Amino acid sequence: MNHSASILTAERQKTGARLTIDLAALAANWRLLATRAAQAETAAAVKGNAYGLGLEQSASALAVAGCRTFFVAVPAEGARLRAVLPQATIYVLNGLIEGTADSLAASRLRPVLGSLEEIEEWAAYRAAGGDGLAALHVDTGMNRLGLTLDQAAALAALPDSAHSLGLALVMSHLACADTPNHMQNARQLERFREASRLFPRVPASLANSAGIHLGEEYHFDLVRPGIALYGGRFMQDRPPLAVVAAAEARILQIRSVARGETIGYGAMETTTRASRIAILSVGYADGYLRATSSSDQRPGANVCLHGTRARLIGRVSMDLLAIDVTGIAQARRGDLVELFGPNMPIDEVALAADTIGYEFLTSLGDRYERHYVGGA
Ligand SMILES: *Cc1c(COP(=O)(O)O)cnc(C)c1O
Repeated sequence: MNHSASILTAERQKTGARLTIDLAALAANWRLLATRAAQAETAAAVKGNAYGLGLEQSASALAVAGCRTFFVAVPAEGARLRAVLPQATIYVLNGLIEGTADSLAASRLRPVLGSLEEIEEWAAYRAAGGDGLAALHVDTGMNRLGLTLDQAAALAALPDSAHSLGLALVMSHLACADTPNHMQNARQLERFREASRLFPRVPASLANSAGIHLGEEYHFDLVRPGIALYGGRFMQDRPPLAVVAAAEARILQIRSVARGETIGYGAMETTTRASRIAILSVGYADGYLRATSSSDQRPGANVCLHGTRARLIGRVSMDLLAIDVTGIAQARRGDLVELFGPNMPIDEVALAADTIGYEFLTSLGDRYERHYVGGA
């Protein structure tokens, strides 16, 4: 055995599952969205560790592709990002945490101000000579973060308020953009037009991934895609962009199980024939959600091996799960099984758990052996 082969073997023994992240596909997805929103700047939402795929690696690849503006959720994510991208514009979506204006601004992180309390505190920081910049969030129907239109109008009526707060962006967020025919979209667009007219010299931003596809009138000056960059489904009746992430788990052993036996915790599923059951080295501690489990009452998620789909059988355990490989004669101990990726769409797996690709990706955990490919 040559040296590099033995390193590979040692690597394989560390963990039972691996995650491959294609940074070239990520960059290509960003470029495609940038052409779809050609009149606007295309930023990137990299919150939640870049939707579970690695903040530093993902944001660096996006920056090489041309992305200059990034959105994180919390200051700690912003600080990590600042360390690798000294020039980037970074917005912190969850806003200003009490008493942190100075430290945010010291890392040149821009809070997205979403309440009157936050604005008051930011105004005091600016009045004391602080020169940090910020965004203003106006709520247009999500009722989560942001000033009401009336509060925004009152703020705009104060002399020179945009300038004195250092507002570099006015934004809002769509609640139903993934459902193109939902009437809420047009209603939020109308309200956001009003909000952006209040601050005519401040750039405006409304669209997430799905919002970009609602039409050019939703683009304004800057768009903020997240899930579409990472290859997840962003709109009900549109295919996702290129696949970015693939997860595979190893077969630890294959068991012959007689008809009428039960598989796993809770004895939730009974074999209806003499079966070959493969046990995989992955479980809910790796974010393979327990809600994907199979039972006699309800089918679970599928996986893919040797070009064939196989189904989960029984409950997902913390570190293990079982699949039925009765019809897949080639299945062997040590085989890698695709959990999601090019042959097993992440959104299909997520749906088996009654959830969305976003939750599956951001739940992945740190036990995978991570491989980044296609980087610059
Ligand atoms: C997460 C988020 C985005 C990106 O949304 P996607 O649906 O992933 O494209 C954009 N804007 C805000 C405010 C967000 O919270």
